[in-house]
Amino acid sequence: MKRRKFIGGLGASAAAVGLTACTKPESAKKTTLDNSFDGKVIEWTMVTTWPKNFAGLGEGAEYLAQLINKMSGGRLKVKVYGAGELVPALQAFESVAIGAAQMGHGAAYYWRGKLNMAPFFAAVPFGLNAQEMNGWLLHGGGLDLWQELYEPLGLIPEPAGNTGVQMAGWFNKEINSMEDVQGLKMRIPGLGGEVWKRAGGIPVLMPGSEVFTSLETGVIDAAEWVGPYNDLAFGLFKAAKYYYYPGWHEPGTTLEAIINKDAYEALPEDLQQVVTNACRTANADMLAQFTARNNEALKTLVDKHGVELKELPKDVLKELAIISEEMLSEQAKTELDKRILNSFIKFRDEARQWHNVSEQSYYGARS
Ligand code: CA
Repeated sequence: MKRRKFIGGLGASAAAVGLTACTKPESAKKTTLDNSFDGKVIEWTMVTTWPKNFAGLGEGAEYLAQLINKMSGGRLKVKVYGAGELVPALQAFESVAIGAAQMGHGAAYYWRGKLNMAPFFAAVPFGLNAQEMNGWLLHGGGLDLWQELYEPLGLIPEPAGNTGVQMAGWFNKEINSMEDVQGLKMRIPGLGGEVWKRAGGIPVLMPGSEVFTSLETGVIDAAEWVGPYNDLAFGLFKAAKYYYYPGWHEPGTTLEAIINKDAYEALPEDLQQVVTNACRTANADMLAQFTARNNEALKTLVDKHGVELKELPKDVLKELAIISEEMLSEQAKTELDKRILNSFIKFRDEARQWHNVSEQSYYGARS
């Protein structure tokens, strides 16, 4: 009797739960809508350093905007402008800082002229690969330092894409020794450009839109852009013969989203979360896209377009690495700069130890 009574009691309460479950969501849904979405749509402008919808990078900016639009249920609409549509590529940073646009998508090393430590959050020659950059930024204190660096400019940075290891670039003459680097005019941004200069070359900073024509017309002798997927789309194989690897100067470039701090803080908390987490999703997605597309593009470049694939000589890489280490140690000027440098170098040392016994050993075993 007792047992039956218990079951009966359970049945009754289950029915009560059922009843509640049937009636509650309707009112809960209504309440949520009434409280947080009164039909007001917030519109943001995103400026980018990439040609509109450009393979990988421009697509990444577009994907990020779409994510925000969808994740916010249409409450926050982000419209993307390619390089030159609203402002020139290399003015994206300033445009977001002054609030002319609420968001930007680019790479931190483009802002080296304003913030000499900015490249540490994009790519460091012989620095961190994609996996390690994500480890440093998201779980190794890197993002906090990045935010501290941009804070005085009223900007919030977020990692929003990664290319993985890039290619060393396109050349019309072979690189057999450091002699061949002397006087070579190359499109190579950031700290890689600084190493190139110290190695005797002439680095040139120019946005993607100018690379092809400059290389084809001989304004520059060589150019690095990204990797096979991007470079194929850009047609760089029509302007140069040799395609060198590895991308010593950009071993895992982080793309950045920059957000105007006032615009971000004016958002309700859930939309702030949408923006931040859309960036994190876009960050992971871009690396997945490059990983999936690069090999096929490389095959097309070699098999269909007759590109000569070449590895930089070991002693050239060794020399560039030595120059790079010297250069890195001289970058830090302020107390914050030194904290950024020390944090980066410490993380790289630790990552190297672990990846020697994990990634590197595994790649060796698999080959
Ligand atoms: Ca590059």
